Amino acid sequence: MLVLVLPQGSPHCRASLAGAPSHAKLPPAVRGEERRRRGGGKVSRYLLETVHRPLQRTNPLSVTLDLSRAVRPAVRPNLSGLTRPQLRAALVDAGAIAPDKAKMRASQIWRWIHYFGVTDFEAMTNIAKEHRAALAEHFTLARPKITSRQQAKDGVIKWLIEFASGVEAETVFIPDVAGSGALCVSSQVGCTLNCTFCHTGTQGLVRNLTAGEIVAQVQIARDDLGEWPAAPDGRKLTNVVFMGMGEPLYNLDNVADALDIISDNEGLGISRRRITVSTSGVAPQLHDLGERTGAMLAISLHAPRDDLRDRLVPLNKKYPIAELMAAVRAYPGLSNARRVTFEYVMLKGVNDSPADAKALVRLISGIPAKVNLIPFNLWPGAPYECSDWPAIEAFAAILNRAGYASPIRTPRGRDILAACGQLKSESEKVRASARRKAAASDEA
Ligand code: SAH
Ligand code: SF4
Repeated sequence: MLVLVLPQGSPHCRASLAGAPSHAKLPPAVRGEERRRRGGGKVSRYLLETVHRPLQRTNPLSVTLDLSRAVRPAVRPNLSGLTRPQLRAALVDAGAIAPDKAKMRASQIWRWIHYFGVTDFEAMTNIAKEHRAALAEHFTLARPKITSRQQAKDGVIKWLIEFASGVEAETVFIPDVAGSGALCVSSQVGCTLNCTFCHTGTQGLVRNLTAGEIVAQVQIARDDLGEWPAAPDGRKLTNVVFMGMGEPLYNLDNVADALDIISDNEGLGISRRRITVSTSGVAPQLHDLGERTGAMLAISLHAPRDDLRDRLVPLNKKYPIAELMAAVRAYPGLSNARRVTFEYVMLKGVNDSPADAKALVRLISGIPAKVNLIPFNLWPGAPYECSDWPAIEAFAAILNRAGYASPIRTPRGRDILAACGQLKSESEKVRASARRKAAASDEA
């Protein structure tokens, strides 16, 4: 950037530094900038921070820096997807705040974004006007576009969110789950794994969602529910489950960053104990997940034997049950207070016999666990049927007698295709048929 030394008040000025502090008093990082400025090199870093600092001494010379030629990035990064350290670094690198004020300023901005949910830098009233303008110049807080919003009879809400052209995923809010409300978020658009009972698995992977795109799903739900500021009392959205589209452990870096952001108690404030990550069983990643996130763990088990699990969850051929169970037993923080959840989809005549239930009890013996029995949600062309109710109850009774809580998950939001395993795929189908309809009416 070009530096001009002009009389104070010049129309070229974006900022002016009357009585600039002496070089010796500048913090080290700023001294570097000052040196570059004196040498005619790049300047930007501390300018915006310094503009509003009360100045102690009056220097007869006015030093005026022209920022009018600052290059605005082609795509402005969204600050919502940055962890605290990333946010600090981004603000400093863009020259929007001074390195010595980075922690304090980033904390203020963090609170506006994640506690108050603002989407406009102008709303950040404790940030000086010039700083807000600089932030808007370099960054955005825009939410992704909501393509559709549906509400089911039972109160479940489903949003189809467009993150970029052709990149859409669904998010589902399930209210009133034992006094709390769970948001089911997607971690990928599509999935590479082909679990044979899951409609999402019949789609290819479009791409991983970024940390910002995962966080945006929580923000959109809070916008809709009117839950800003994100104060903990009386809110409906209390829990987050990574049980939407995709395999979270194939996108662990972004999931871990998103978890850091969502669980921050000066922001969205959803504690790690209320965030559950569900995996189809990427055994080698479990340790990392626990170490990096402290999230609650859910394992999509669905079968107590390798021959059957190989058919239902093909990933089992890579990480067989014994390897998966060893990784579960070693999951960091596992205890009676922090039990693992085994998910078990009830497929008629496939995995729902009393013998299967007893084999399951033997398999999980000694692990602090509960088992969620999920009635199979049908989708067009699915090669399975849902188990009969008496079979599900008999299965649950065997687990209960062995001391395992085994709630039967009530299917929610089926009338808007928001239940487990129904996400995205149906949306595509609806949209494809809508396209056909539109094409037909064009031809008519
Ligand atoms: N990929 C991760 C998380 C997303 S799937 C995983 O597999 O765990 C979320 C849950 O929905 C998983 O337990 C999955 O097994 C279950 N599920 C998928 N399709 C289903 C269907 N048609 N009916 C009921 N549950 C289903
Ligand atoms: Fe992917 Fe999970 Fe569906 Fe399996 S159940 S295909 S891992 S989303």
